[in-house]
Amino acid sequence: MSFDSLGLSAELLRAISDQGYTEPTPVQRQAIPVILEGRDIMAGAQTGTGKTAGFTLPLLQKLSAAKAGNGQRPVRALVLTPTRELAAQVGESVATYGKYLPLKSAVIFGGVKINPQIAKLRSGVDILVATPGRLLDHLGQKTLDLSRVEILVLDEADRMLDMGFIRDIRKVLALLPRNRQNLLFSATFSDDIKKLASGLLHDPAFIEVARRNAPTELVSQVVHPVDRERKRELLSSLIGTNNWRQVLVFTRTKHGANRLSDQLEKDGITSAAIHGNKSQGARTRALADFKQGAVRVLVATDIAARGLDIDQLPHVVNFELPNVPEDYVHRIGRTGRAGNEGEAMSLVCVDELKLLKDIERVLNKELPKVVMEGFQPDPSIRPEPIPNGRNGGQQRRGGNNSQPSNGNGDKHNRHGAGRRGPASGQGAPGNKPATSRPAHSKPRRRPAQARPA
Ligand code: AMP
Repeated sequence: MSFDSLGLSAELLRAISDQGYTEPTPVQRQAIPVILEGRDIMAGAQTGTGKTAGFTLPLLQKLSAAKAGNGQRPVRALVLTPTRELAAQVGESVATYGKYLPLKSAVIFGGVKINPQIAKLRSGVDILVATPGRLLDHLGQKTLDLSRVEILVLDEADRMLDMGFIRDIRKVLALLPRNRQNLLFSATFSDDIKKLASGLLHDPAFIEVARRNAPTELVSQVVHPVDRERKRELLSSLIGTNNWRQVLVFTRTKHGANRLSDQLEKDGITSAAIHGNKSQGARTRALADFKQGAVRVLVATDIAARGLDIDQLPHVVNFELPNVPEDYVHRIGRTGRAGNEGEAMSLVCVDELKLLKDIERVLNKELPKVVMEGFQPDPSIRPEPIPNGRNGGQQRRGGNNSQPSNGNGDKHNRHGAGRRGPASGQGAPGNKPATSRPAHSKPRRRPAQARPA
């Protein structure tokens, strides 16, 4: 099947062809015609499936087909994303696919100056991509009017809820015109997502392209058992021996990411770390350097890596396993994207055997274990508790207010979501009432372990 049969305009087909795409991915095949028809959709699609083009292309087509009138340029499409990186990437996609169309777009997120964003908004924007916190800042300052929005996209809605954005989302929804098209994308469908969807979507078309928690078949996965203290040595050896040029490496903590990146540099391997404590400028620079091949290794924490879109990323390494098994799936989804083959390996020490078991349970299969020559684990080493597993989730949910642990850097704290009670419960019609639980302990599927960004 080619893109021509989806009903897209010549300008969009040209932009698609410039990208070198020859045929639509499954989510694009399903979503594009339905969105063009004007229906709401609820799409279960993980990152890497081509979902961004799946909503961006029809959105551009619809906006370019009908003008706002009176020479005005109100915001007609709003895309909400959980993280700055994802917002930036969606913004790039809008610019890329819309390059032959006379539409203007803007991306707004926290952690950067607000004034240039205000100027941009004032100049007229058709499509706005935003993270919820900064969007509310603009709305509070009356530098933004959403009363003419025709299409709303919630991208990675599950992650937005996980990050405690439900209150912010509801505030934004209250400011949108009732008559609009809603597109909800989520990798998973928890009860919270279903609740959000039922209040938001009208007669939606359901689209599901990847099984939940099922990493793409194109990613080969392997576990390398290794001693705790020899992981860095093994990583350097794997990179050097295989001559990998572009590797995304995951650590559990920001500190761990910095330390590993420094150590790799000492080993002569160019590297950069990306996490929530880094300024937006530093994060953007690190990502750009990595994409251009100026650094070989990007060391990232889970939340910072969310939304990273790097074409044809061949290798992902779990330097440390994540505390939450679903994050493993998100991590390895960074490779094997849009039909390319990828390789994901996990360096697992004796402390992490329980985490490995949890992951294998979620995957519903055992991962192959391959001991690398010279890195045979020492059987006399006893397991130790994983240091950041003891914080009871405080860093993620609210104990770590001084830093943007949501990987977003928005005024997340000020809006209070996820701080004063179960994020999904407060002020939301039909949701559970707030309970007396502490701010960080949400009564949901996540285990109570810290997930620092
Ligand atoms: P996404 O799931 O939106 O994050 O997209 C994953 C990657 O797939 C991005 O790098 C896109 O550039 C790429 N992509 C999107 N659509 C196609 C397509 N039809 N053919 C090949 N690559 C695509």
